[in-house]
Amino acid sequence: MPAYFLQETLKYADICCALNKYLMHSWLSIPSESDFSLQNLPYGVFHLGDGRLRAGMAIGDHIIDLAAASELGLFGKKRFFYKIFTQSTLNDFIALGKPVTNRVRKKVQDWLRLEQRPDNAAQILVNRAEAQMVMPIRVPNYTDFYSSIEHATNVGKMFRPDNPLLPNWRWLPVGYHGRASSIVVSGTPIRRPHGQILPPGGAPDTPVFAASRQLDFELEMAFIIGKESPLGTPITVEQADEYIFGLVIFNDWSARDIQRWEYVPLGPFLGKNFGSSISPWIVPLEALKPHRVKSPKQQPEPLPYLATKGLQNYDIHLEVSLLHGDQSTVISRSNTRYLYWSMAQQLAHHTVNGCNVQVGDMMASGTISGPTPGSFGSLLELSWGGKHEIALSDGTVRKFLEDGDTLRMRAWAGAADRKVGFGQVEGTVLPAHDTAG
Ligand code: MN
Repeated sequence: MPAYFLQETLKYADICCALNKYLMHSWLSIPSESDFSLQNLPYGVFHLGDGRLRAGMAIGDHIIDLAAASELGLFGKKRFFYKIFTQSTLNDFIALGKPVTNRVRKKVQDWLRLEQRPDNAAQILVNRAEAQMVMPIRVPNYTDFYSSIEHATNVGKMFRPDNPLLPNWRWLPVGYHGRASSIVVSGTPIRRPHGQILPPGGAPDTPVFAASRQLDFELEMAFIIGKESPLGTPITVEQADEYIFGLVIFNDWSARDIQRWEYVPLGPFLGKNFGSSISPWIVPLEALKPHRVKSPKQQPEPLPYLATKGLQNYDIHLEVSLLHGDQSTVISRSNTRYLYWSMAQQLAHHTVNGCNVQVGDMMASGTISGPTPGSFGSLLELSWGGKHEIALSDGTVRKFLEDGDTLRMRAWAGAADRKVGFGQVEGTVLPAHDTAG
């Protein structure tokens, strides 16, 4: 290797090292394992028990109170930003567009990187443990995709053993329009639903009305639209990043027995719309840039409007735990990199016919299963349609969720000191109302 090249490389390495130190340094102590590093700065809406809602950004064990920060002039235009950050949702802020939202993000990052703890720190910082998180956005429309080839194949095998993947699956990101009104924030309990169910051993094609016995979760990620598009104008795969504000973890609670009886011919309905839970912190797409990876190879090659180049997928670790009493068992570990169809392809396909999108629209990935049984993203797959039992650390077993079970999902990209994490989404199963029958 020529000497000058070696020298240049060393210099480059020095600069990178210094830059890294600068990027990671803050006067605020941020636990090294925290999901909320300086590189992350996700947005949420919280209150301190008084119901006064305000926007915040998570950093380590703290929250930056964005309303307080605007009052102190951190972003300029004090009254404008104070009004924006005391809304009950982030929709108006997100709608300002990425030049504004990224400038706010940069201002907060710069403030956290000051040489010394600033005098206004006490007014701007809130202890995260004291805050109650609420639904961060108003969701006008919700779409759920079906973009994991492992999940689609597993489910297909159970319902159609000889023909698991339908012929359209590799040509388009399959999806359906879901229900936005029942999307709730992490911590909201989920009531076991009633519905029409075919009883095992009952008369053929004759349902009973009963509480679901096959309550399940679906491990998904969802992206949130940050920019409106006009009706009649498709969004291309190249434009997709402009329209995607950020991501959350998404649990698409599902009642398999209700779903199985109702889903033909028009797809999911009451087996799905009784509740979906999201993590409270929205991780901006910008924070995930360093964690972009290649998508799985697509065969056949997608049609031109779905053709993409470069790194379209994300390396986000996913973990599902089932909590029962004081015991917790990790039942699945997956990763968003397994998704066959990328978010850009989902959005391009969703709008290729001219369908418009609105700020706050939520588009979920579909269950993210990996290639091995330990990476399956639903109990339907983990128990293989109720054939196997899943052992929990307290000695009990599960095929589907029981009353009192708490399901928790976590997601994070990157390693210690620079993690871009999502925190968690969890929900506890409440017994069905006993009034129905
Ligand atoms: Mn789903």
